[in-house]
Amino acid sequence: MDYPVGVKAWKIDHFRNAHDNYLQSLSKNASFDLHIANPEWNGLSQLERYNRCTRNLQWVLRTALDNDLNLRAMGSGWSLSKVSVSDEAIINTKRYRHKFLLSEENFASGHLANHRAEDYRFLQCGNTIIDINEHLENESIPPKALPASGGSNGQTIVGGFSTNTHGAAIGFGGLPEMIKGIHVVCGPDRHYYIERESEVVTSRTFHDKIGAVGIRDDALFNAILVSFGSFGIIHGVLVSVEDKYLLQQKLARIPYNQQLEDVIVHGDFSGIAAHLSYPPNDAAHPIYHFELAINPHDFAYGDAGKGAYVRVMHKIPYRNDYPRIDYPSQGYTYGDDVLGLMQTVLDKIEGTFGWLNKQLIPKMVNTLFDTAFERPDAAIGTIGETFRNTVFRGKLFSAAIGLDRRDVPAAIECCLKVNETTKLAGAMAFRFVKGTRATLGITRWDDSCVLELDGVDSRVNHQFFHRLLDRLETLNIKYAIHWGKINKLIDARRLEYMYGSEVIEEWKAQRSRIMDPEVQRLFNNEFMEGCNLHEYVPYLAPVA
Ligand SMILES: Cc1cc2nc3c(=O)[nH]c(=O)nc-3n(C[C@H](O)[C@H](O)[C@H](O)COP(=O)(O)OP(=O)(O)OC[C@H]3O[C@@H](n4cnc5c(N)ncnc54)[C@H](O)[C@@H]3O)c2cc1C
Repeated sequence: MDYPVGVKAWKIDHFRNAHDNYLQSLSKNASFDLHIANPEWNGLSQLERYNRCTRNLQWVLRTALDNDLNLRAMGSGWSLSKVSVSDEAIINTKRYRHKFLLSEENFASGHLANHRAEDYRFLQCGNTIIDINEHLENESIPPKALPASGGSNGQTIVGGFSTNTHGAAIGFGGLPEMIKGIHVVCGPDRHYYIERESEVVTSRTFHDKIGAVGIRDDALFNAILVSFGSFGIIHGVLVSVEDKYLLQQKLARIPYNQQLEDVIVHGDFSGIAAHLSYPPNDAAHPIYHFELAINPHDFAYGDAGKGAYVRVMHKIPYRNDYPRIDYPSQGYTYGDDVLGLMQTVLDKIEGTFGWLNKQLIPKMVNTLFDTAFERPDAAIGTIGETFRNTVFRGKLFSAAIGLDRRDVPAAIECCLKVNETTKLAGAMAFRFVKGTRATLGITRWDDSCVLELDGVDSRVNHQFFHRLLDRLETLNIKYAIHWGKINKLIDARRLEYMYGSEVIEEWKAQRSRIMDPEVQRLFNNEFMEGCNLHEYVPYLAPVA
């Protein structure tokens, strides 16, 4: 096959994800590797290179159609389920790392009257969160920062928001909330720039420069925002950024009591003020991040010694003279979330017993949980210094569900009940996140909380997850399973329980709106078919 400059064959016949949760067979050497550092492109402006990349993505789609190749774009490949793979060919987007600071003419008329151009970046899809943090915090003048992050930061920007990656930004939300425009290639002859009609940021001039047809439509934008690679290839995104700031965090083990439930259910931090770095309603140092970790093997209501680990971060103005976080070279660090903690646990088990002794894990979790939290109880850093990369070792289990935060106390009871008979080989984390407007967003409640089960990838944890979902359904508690974590349990029935048929049909119709049936078929995969999201639903109105 003759590849255009900037596209190479990706010579693989299978893909295994970083945590070894699945193996996907692929057609031999049919995958695509995208490049931007091509000598033939020397002398081209960054915009010209970007536009060449768009043409290459269209070429990939044409080739896939001609060869009947099932296709999917991949980011960092961090997802723990098969959302990011196809049955035949995948596209490596990770070298697509152009970054643009837009000039005035690229903004919609009047937008800059009350917004600043420096508060946006147009980013190519393969930029990782690490890379963006470095660019914004250390290279940009003036220094800027992302408003949100996951607990680790190796995801690509598009891979991250496409599965609703989130941290615990209680007043901001997850990665989808910082996305203001999406440039998507969804056919060999068409590509669109999509933004919300209710939040227009860019001008027609900008759309013309990237050669895209502009669509301003809330329903379409909200549908594509969390669409796990199924709406075509997202080439670039407009991201809102802000002035560089610091996060000041404090960690404490505190009793699980009514005061903590007031925080969980109502966001009322007054009862745990003693454990915060600043008063709860201090407008100059607002609470940015709130998360809990619970070890189900060492937990009792109202008992500080068996309480919850609470981590709260305040957002404070940037200053240069703060003590830098001293990262140990090994073990659990401030950047790690509970998943990182479980990695430490697994390392210790492997070192002590070898891999066959996984039945010892609950006991090990118990003894190591406190050790893992043995660290200074306060730290300060930028968002890029606070949420860092994770080193992969071993087969980890990580599943998560979005919940209405008012249901969290009942969900904790469900976990403890299930744990009586099915011991979780791991721990529970609860991260509180402001809701999203994404149609299939997992943080779909105004005040959402994501319950995570992190541990070893053993059968008992899969059983635990299954039983937990059954129990939540028995109590009619709504949940939404994370698209990027272990999610084999999503099927058509559960999807309907999670979102309701009207929402699902709306999402499907928006998907079919921007793709012809034969192109849409390219982006269906086993995962989509398993939950009945693959169907073509004709969209009767004009596309744009
Ligand atoms: C160590 C670790 C820590 C994690 N921490 C968190 C956390 O704190 N919070 C959280 O919510 N999740 C977390 N996750 C899950 C992770 O954030 C998601 O799985 C995320 O989607 C991974 O991003 P990625 O770049 O690796 O994307 P991939 O896994 O490669 O892809 C994710 C989806 O995006 C699609 N996609 C990627 N690029 C494009 C493109 N250019 N165009 C169209 N579609 C595209 C893919 O097709 C796929 O469906 C973690 C995972 C790991 C392994």
